[in-house]
Amino acid sequence: MTSREQRIADFIEPLRVDPGSKVRLAKDFDPAFRGTVHSKKKGRQLLSEGTELLAEYQAKLYAQHTHGVLVVLQALDAGGKDGTIRHVMTGVNPQGVDVHGFKVPSSEELDHDYLWRYGLQLPERGKIAIFNRSHYEEVLVVRVHPELLERQHLPRSARGKGVWRRRFHEINEWERTLSRNGTKIVKLFLNLSNEEQRIRFLRRIDLPDHNWKFSAADVREREYWDSYQRAFSKMLSNTSTRWAPWYVIPADRKWYARIAAAAVIANALIELDPRFPTIDSDARRRLLKIKETLEAQSPAGAAPDPFEAG
Ligand code: ATP
Ligand code: MG
Repeated sequence: MTSREQRIADFIEPLRVDPGSKVRLAKDFDPAFRGTVHSKKKGRQLLSEGTELLAEYQAKLYAQHTHGVLVVLQALDAGGKDGTIRHVMTGVNPQGVDVHGFKVPSSEELDHDYLWRYGLQLPERGKIAIFNRSHYEEVLVVRVHPELLERQHLPRSARGKGVWRRRFHEINEWERTLSRNGTKIVKLFLNLSNEEQRIRFLRRIDLPDHNWKFSAADVREREYWDSYQRAFSKMLSNTSTRWAPWYVIPADRKWYARIAAAAVIANALIELDPRFPTIDSDARRRLLKIKETLEAQSPAGAAPDPFEAG
């Protein structure tokens, strides 16, 4: 591991939820945490290092074509998902990334099992898919608002007592299957404080250019703050696994959240360690033969292989 890669691994360590640990968000993770990165200036440098590394590794991921990367982004309203996606993915080849947002499910989606619509959007080999909200809504908003579970037309055996425990288990197993078969899963929870959410909502009201982002529904949802904190804590406690651990991204400072998100994604790619495919000596000999043919076609006065000559 180079020093750059080691720095990234050290940086994200305190953000990981240890598999099996019991999380109480309010007590265990500070939304304003910024570790050793005290200034925005140092942060900017780290972010550009992280995004540069992402671009490098993404090119190799694409070329190797054996693994996909699924980035799961969860947050409370105004948590900064959109900005994080925009900043983290600058510099990455757009052909290699797909972003999918998940809203209230349609009636077609409700007529399938709850993981169906997420399964349809998984990354192909060589690609990064970002889920802006994800299958975790199924144990968050659906848990906070039990009437949403009612709308899922579930058979009796999939409702009632133990439903969340079963869903945690099913999600873990689903993710295990995916990860064994070439999908690297990176899970980010943007952890925003109650006060910072209040300020961000006010900002959306105060700045005319931001009014379109304001939603009265978000403010109503804020009344369920404690229920969400409990649901997030249970999700983190039950679905951080060896194969797909959660990272809690301190989100009160946008600049810090972006560095941290970029670092976690970069670290996942470092762990995958994709390589540009190389060819064997027979294939190499065949290439050299073709090279001779192309060189023989050079017009008068031109170098047979200007690339080699240059
Ligand atoms: P934006 O930044 O544009 O507000 P958003 O992700 O908040 O993005 P919205 O259309 O505002 O998009 O909200 C989507 C809504 O869909 C959220 O309130 C979310 O809780 C809800 N939702 C997502 N998945 C489910 C689900 N499986 N069941 C019920 N509601 C869901
Ligand atoms: Mg919204």
